[in-house]
Amino acid sequence: MKTFADLANPWIGGLAIYEPGRPVEEVARELGFESADEISKLASNENALGPSPRAVAAMREAASKMHRYPDGGAFYLKQALAAKLDVRPSQILTANGSNEVLELIGHVFLGPDTNIVMADRAFVVYRLIARSSRAEVVAVKMKDYTHDLDAMLAAITDRTKVVFVSNPNNPTGTMLDEPAVERFVARVPDSVVVCLDEAYIELLPEDRQPDSLAFVRQGKKVIVARTFSKTYGLAGLRIGYAVAAEDCIGLLNRVRQPFNVNAMALAAAVAALDDDEHVRRTREMVRSGLAQLEEGFRRLGLAFVPAVVNFMLVKVGKGREVFEALQRRGVIVRPMDGYGLPEYVRVTVGTRAENEKCLRGLREVLAG
Ligand code: PMP
Repeated sequence: MKTFADLANPWIGGLAIYEPGRPVEEVARELGFESADEISKLASNENALGPSPRAVAAMREAASKMHRYPDGGAFYLKQALAAKLDVRPSQILTANGSNEVLELIGHVFLGPDTNIVMADRAFVVYRLIARSSRAEVVAVKMKDYTHDLDAMLAAITDRTKVVFVSNPNNPTGTMLDEPAVERFVARVPDSVVVCLDEAYIELLPEDRQPDSLAFVRQGKKVIVARTFSKTYGLAGLRIGYAVAAEDCIGLLNRVRQPFNVNAMALAAAVAALDDDEHVRRTREMVRSGLAQLEEGFRRLGLAFVPAVVNFMLVKVGKGREVFEALQRRGVIVRPMDGYGLPEYVRVTVGTRAENEKCLRGLREVLAG
């Protein structure tokens, strides 16, 4: 008898499955904690302050209208984004998290006999999407935990369709400055799409955010991917967007589901976009949390990669063992062996108390 695997497209069985941070409820159950509240999840780069309160109010109001389909064209959200970002609504695609933007890029541009160029320690989803589109992955070694843009340029061939640059990068927490990205985009051949993944960009003060949307305004082959998951604290809702030339957005729109963004997410995102106070508090929490973690790591004699975002790589020795021991103490971080960094874990900035709990846990684990 044939199995489903026999019937599936032959390349599917070999694909890797994305390993997400574990839900707190599951860890609490498994390790015998009374409640999920005893666990600090510092594993998925979420916003420790929670969602924007304005977004929560908008979701409450939207709840009674959930018998209606969402606005498949995301009219109000695109209007609000266009005004804020100084682009046209037709240059925006809304998506089920920026993850869906990456996936749609795969559908539109990738296939057999094509490849993507990415950094070896950039966000793993680029790799997964290329593979599921049957494209090859050219992973270029990072330099000092940062994209080596010259080496990435040199890696581009006739087969290359998309170059992914995560800026700032997950999981290293590092960032390329505006002139470096500008020089890079200017030198990428016209036959290649550059995806600038800026999932964390709003965590930076405005004067430190590179103006990557200028590439779109100038008509370059650049797709900027952004999200409401991080700075706006809406990871559970799944809402992100792409900004690119109108013809590119038209192509991406052809391969998305008609209602890819749900109605609650649309309402919440519009409200969150206006919530400057929540963004300001989030930036402040991240700035002081990074300082607290850095100081704690120094006191423990641990090396770390200085970060500009709400997470940091820290060198703890046996990363997976430390991850497990911290988890038993109610702190979830992310082991990094999947990224070829078995001596590191990635710690997301939490509240002051959560950061302290993580540092205390590390002290105990490393002492014993
Ligand atoms: N890009 C990067 C660099 C990320 O770290 C993440 C989230 N881990 C994403 C994209 C996807 O985020 P989302 O789908 O929640 O918008």
